[in-house]
Amino acid sequence: MDQFGRRIEYLRISVTDKCNFRCLYCMPPEGLQWLPRAEILDYEEIAEIARQLVPLGVKRLRITGGEPTIRPRLEILISELKAIDGIEDLSLSTNGVRLAELAPAYRDAGLDRVNMSADSLQPDRIRGISRRDFQFDPVAAAGSALAAGLAPVKINVVLMRGINDDEIEDFARLTVDHPLHVRFIELMPVGGMRELTWEHVVPSDEVLDRVGRLGKLSAVAGPARGNGPAVYYRLDGAAGSIGVITPMTHTYCGSCNRVRLTADGRLRTCLFGEHSVNLRDALRAGEPIAPLFLSALAEKPLEHHLLTMNTGGLRALSEVGG
Ligand code: SAM
Ligand code: SF4
Repeated sequence: MDQFGRRIEYLRISVTDKCNFRCLYCMPPEGLQWLPRAEILDYEEIAEIARQLVPLGVKRLRITGGEPTIRPRLEILISELKAIDGIEDLSLSTNGVRLAELAPAYRDAGLDRVNMSADSLQPDRIRGISRRDFQFDPVAAAGSALAAGLAPVKINVVLMRGINDDEIEDFARLTVDHPLHVRFIELMPVGGMRELTWEHVVPSDEVLDRVGRLGKLSAVAGPARGNGPAVYYRLDGAAGSIGVITPMTHTYCGSCNRVRLTADGRLRTCLFGEHSVNLRDALRAGEPIAPLFLSALAEKPLEHHLLTMNTGGLRALSEVGG
């Protein structure tokens, strides 16, 4: 429990800072200053951190990045995490490019489900947003995950006005015939986003208004094993659902149940705060990490301040968000 009474039970584990994409909203084209290899946690270290955090109440794990599927033999980590008593849900976030190839091995190792990013259904546009030249069909990739037994599959769409917001209806229609859960995420000021401004943010109320014109839209509980901030709806008769995640227009910090472990072993209690606690050095020194975890929770902020930063009009988000 943190100082504001929030029950912290969800740990996001970044296994690499690297990526095979350079999404407009996340990474500059030249990449980042990558972490030196010796600083990155190995699989046994990650599993040991998780083992020590489960008795404190962590129950759900998500493997993320960077792009986690580029880390070799990720199924080894998946099986180590799955073997920990007390883990109720093990999921993965991916851009999906390698999903068709890797989903069966990940499922065999014990992965429960995946969240896949897909910001467009149009091949040229996918290349433009990711700034990479992959031939890749996100709907087929999601289908491969389902076929491998990874369910539910959630699709994350970061909307950018004038770039992909004309695909809102296409993504929403996808949920009619496919048991997919499409979540529209409001663009946030993180990463190196030189080309994006506050004017690119598409408020979720606008998204729901447009989707509501496609058919009757009812509020629903959302897919099983949900643990995030999305609010879900379903078009009448649809196989899947539509969610909105609204970090910019309606903060959900009051129900935040998560902390994140960076690839180099720092625990961060807020995506937008600078505060972190170094678990790696304690682990490598053979010291317990529980006291550090508890001290980090004591610093977890009540909320982020993205909204109060929203004063710059056309200022690039990267200038205000880092
Ligand atoms: N590479 C994986 C992927 O793309 O799913 C996992 C890491 S990625 C950083 C995790 C999620 O953060 C993705 O759904 C991505 O769309 C989202 N994300 C990254 N930058 C964002 C931003 N500036 N605004 C909103 N969502 C963002
Ligand atoms: Fe890579 Fe995911 Fe960031 Fe895109 S959002 S650059 S796929 S880490």
